[in-house]
Amino acid sequence: MPEAINIISVNCGSSSIKFSIFKILEKSVKNNPLLNIERTGFGKIEEIGTPFGEYHFETKNKNYAAKLNFKNHIEAINFMLRKLGLHHNSSNSSNIKIKEFRKNGLNASALKIDIVAHRFVNGGKYFNEPIIASKKNIVKLSKLDELAPLHNPSSLKGLEIMAEYMPNAKQVCIFDTAFHKNIPLCAKLYPIPIDYYIKYNIKKFGFHGISYSYINEILNLNRGAIKKIAVCHLGNGASICAIKNGASIDTSMGYTPLEGLMMGTRSGNLDPSIPFILQEKLNISGSEMYNILNKKSGVLGISGKTYDFKELLNYKDKYSKLAFKMYAYRVIKFIGQYAASMNGLDALVFTGGIGENSSLLRKEVGGNLSYLGIKIDNKKNKEASQYFQTFNAHGKIKVNKSIKSIGTGKTPVFVIHTDEERQMASEALNLVF
Ligand code: ADP
Repeated sequence: MPEAINIISVNCGSSSIKFSIFKILEKSVKNNPLLNIERTGFGKIEEIGTPFGEYHFETKNKNYAAKLNFKNHIEAINFMLRKLGLHHNSSNSSNIKIKEFRKNGLNASALKIDIVAHRFVNGGKYFNEPIIASKKNIVKLSKLDELAPLHNPSSLKGLEIMAEYMPNAKQVCIFDTAFHKNIPLCAKLYPIPIDYYIKYNIKKFGFHGISYSYINEILNLNRGAIKKIAVCHLGNGASICAIKNGASIDTSMGYTPLEGLMMGTRSGNLDPSIPFILQEKLNISGSEMYNILNKKSGVLGISGKTYDFKELLNYKDKYSKLAFKMYAYRVIKFIGQYAASMNGLDALVFTGGIGENSSLLRKEVGGNLSYLGIKIDNKKNKEASQYFQTFNAHGKIKVNKSIKSIGTGKTPVFVIHTDEERQMASEALNLVF
């Protein structure tokens, strides 16, 4: 291995790919890598499979962006590898039409990657820890598609392509479900015949685990150990996790990400009989119903306008206002549930696009939690959002005890920017070294 180790974290979503490149000196790798890795670049590919595809990549001083029409993840990853100079053939030999609209001196440089960290949403029954993607493990990974059909197949595709182009790099897989592995059975199982758990492994897997691990570690580094924490990861997908003594003891997503909170397009919890009744009334199949609950419900379903929370706040009609109230109400209820599960609450954390940016949502939620010793300070609450709008993702993380509560009650409330790619790189280094 060289003196400096380069890692790329690849986070494949259903229609997007986020990626970040990190560097660490070999001599620092045995210390906590999370503290010593330095982000040297990050990028995003969005709207894969639509005519509105976009590619962005930036380093501290340079940036590049282009509009493209990526048919699928394979095309998108191939393009990314070419742009980063990691492809066998670094010219644009494919027939993708590129409209470059922002180019500030960024050329593909001869970057040598030593480790690729891939995000897998669900490790299923096989994987509860980060793993090296050996041939044997890849066969097992391919059996997990049905557990996360929107995510795992794209992650596996990404892994296969990158392994082909970077045969000397270690390919590591990091699982969101791993953080939830120790949830006690009483919280993990559903009250249906026990055979379904024994035979089919029907249980709560939980998601957003990479984000929860990161938040847990950042809090620990900045504030020391906190016993009972509720973390609200509120993005397009949303969940809450109860972290007791550093481990997840319950979380709101379940066997699939459909359970729990109301989300951008997912319903979250509802009376389990409703889908059966609606299927009959609407004369639709089970998979059509499943699609409605996953893609047409939540904020989009209630507002009828948008799934996007930032946009929702611009609408003043009664159903958009109701969508906001319903969203907040469900967050409030889950925090209460988890305070009960942990027999108390020592800290509340907001993260994810909505959690980090919407002071309005935090105010609405915090305003209903005075019984837990939570009192949100209006000024600090607003400033927290401004901080995250200017958040600089480059370089190393700073541990300077700077994370301050946005509340004045006895239970602190933190707004922490999550960084799943950084956490993945750190976990991959811990595995390889
Ligand atoms: P993903 O789950 O896809 O990673 P993010 O964590 O990026 O999603 O969160 C996306 C959500 O955050 C969107 O609903 C977006 O509207 C919302 N969001 C982003 N900025 C703001 C803001 N300033 N106010 C309210 N919501 C915001």
